Amino acid sequence: MSECQSCGVDFEPLGAWHKVCRDCFREAKRQETAELQAEIDALRRTNRNLTARLRQVEPRVQELQNLLREAELAMETFDVGFVRELLQLAHPDKHNDSPLARRVTQRLLAMRGAR
Ligand SMILES: [Zn+2]
Repeated sequence: MSECQSCGVDFEPLGAWHKVCRDCFREAKRQETAELQAEIDALRRTNRNLTARLRQVEPRVQELQNLLREAELAMETFDVGFVRELLQLAHPDKHNDSPLARRVTQRLLAMRGAR
């Protein structure tokens, strides 16, 4: 005979490892099962929320991927020599220092610098 470490009742142990009576063992397993079920329920809720958010952002991701492809294509076709020629044509000195010439030149310089 042995004394249950949980409730103190006498019980017949099946081995040295057997520290609690059958009722206490069942109660511990029942509690463990309830905790695991609560965790499963919480994970399912989280999964549902994340799935919904993923569906919300998917169109935006698709849109950004398309923009990235367009930008990559634009970078591939970017012609440094052509921008240099545009800079020569647009130079403010050739246009009485007009605001338009300054704006276009600044933009072209930025394009050349970004490359
Ligand atoms: Zn017990």
